[in-house]
Amino acid sequence: MDAPHNPEALKHTCDVIVLGAGAAGLMCAIEAGKRGRRVLVLERAERIGKKILISGGSRCNFTNLHTSPDNFLSANPHFSKSALARYQPSDFIRLVEKHAIAYHEKKLGQLFCDRAASDITSMLEAECRASGVEIHLNAKIKSVNMDDERPQAFGVTTDSSVFFASRLVVATGGLSIAKIGATSFGYDLARQFGLSIVEPRPALVPLTFTERDRKRWCDLAGVSTEVIASAIVPSASVAPAGPDSRKQHQFREQMLVTHRGLSGPAVLQMSSYWNGKDPISLDLAPGRNLLAELRGRGPRDHGSWKSLLKEILPKRLADRWLETHPAAGNSDRDLAAAEQRLHNWQIRPEGTEGYGKAEVTAGGVNTDELSAKTMESQKRSGLFFIGEVVDVTGQLGGFNFQWAWASGYCAGQVV
Ligand SMILES: Cc1cc2nc3c(=O)[nH]c(=O)nc-3n(C[C@H](O)[C@H](O)[C@H](O)COP(=O)(O)OP(=O)(O)OC[C@H]3O[C@@H](n4cnc5c(N)ncnc54)[C@H](O)[C@@H]3O)c2cc1C
Repeated sequence: MDAPHNPEALKHTCDVIVLGAGAAGLMCAIEAGKRGRRVLVLERAERIGKKILISGGSRCNFTNLHTSPDNFLSANPHFSKSALARYQPSDFIRLVEKHAIAYHEKKLGQLFCDRAASDITSMLEAECRASGVEIHLNAKIKSVNMDDERPQAFGVTTDSSVFFASRLVVATGGLSIAKIGATSFGYDLARQFGLSIVEPRPALVPLTFTERDRKRWCDLAGVSTEVIASAIVPSASVAPAGPDSRKQHQFREQMLVTHRGLSGPAVLQMSSYWNGKDPISLDLAPGRNLLAELRGRGPRDHGSWKSLLKEILPKRLADRWLETHPAAGNSDRDLAAAEQRLHNWQIRPEGTEGYGKAEVTAGGVNTDELSAKTMESQKRSGLFFIGEVVDVTGQLGGFNFQWAWASGYCAGQVV
């Protein structure tokens, strides 16, 4: 960093300023540094990569082997394709292996550190050092402006210095988990430079019950079972087809009853697709044909129905289900109707647990305003947005980090 011809010692010039030392910002800084660019990263917190450190239960689910554009939500589902193709899970795995970080596949292509998420932050720190990236922690950014005296340069003022660069990369993340430093900074900056924002909303987030459902279910907090969870799309927005045509994006995984509603991987995944008002559907007996199973066992009556339910659901959940959804009778028709209710438990959640518990923020900087290849703003040359601040949101399972690495990599090649 130099302040050559400058009378004021606290003015500094570099090639690239990256705002935010999270996954995306660090990857971009490393790649730009490797190209010989003088890179400064300004981070508000007292350390880098705080979200990486708490991710994946502190083991960081750093990528997913099966990453494809279908694992992402965005107003423009095509936007992520180019970046995801240019920087793939195998590229990040190569980096992890270069640093001899032990990892394993937990399930469904999800890769986790064997030891701790801090292996990933140490690796990124070492890569930053090797490519000459300078990181300033505890940086309180007061303003970002175009510099009047230096055309095409951005001026970033902190409480102690002013930094200038012709390339500015915004990697300040979304709104999830304010207690570790999430802010609306990236969205505010985008608006300041004339970019539009797709309304942010909490995603990968537990859902809350209405008062009535809370009373019915929440004493079962801690109970979990495998379900297929799906958000129901209003009928006007889908063509009439089969019985499942209104259920979109189905996730077969565990569901967990909480003190206020529902969580667990199936519910978190589906929450990203829930529109905030229509019901959701839970199949509590995925893939099973209970009536056929009852037929195979002999006489069909209330007793055999109850026993079967207790086999397939945790006992307390089965008891509560039988209390709240009793079969009307013993006929095949009654039992078929009872089974149908179990396969399609429709609930209208009251809401979500909000940004305090959301793993990510959906929405963000409108991808129509960015180059899919470089992440540069179409409106303001030299200005880039990467990572979670952009309207690209991954499903659960390492996809959000893969997006952070990929978008950071792409910007890093050109800044
Ligand atoms: C509890 C939890 C667990 C998660 N687990 C996983 C997982 O296992 N796998 C996965 O793929 N995803 C996971 N995620 C999501 C993933 O962490 C994020 O999608 C990813 O970190 C986004 O990277 P980013 O660099 O865009 O933003 P962030 O990692 O949020 O980094 C943004 C950085 O910018 C800094 N910053 C903010 N405002 C300013 C400012 N004004 N000035 C300077 N700096 C600023 C922040 O302090 C932060 O360091 C998890 C999220 C949470 C909350």
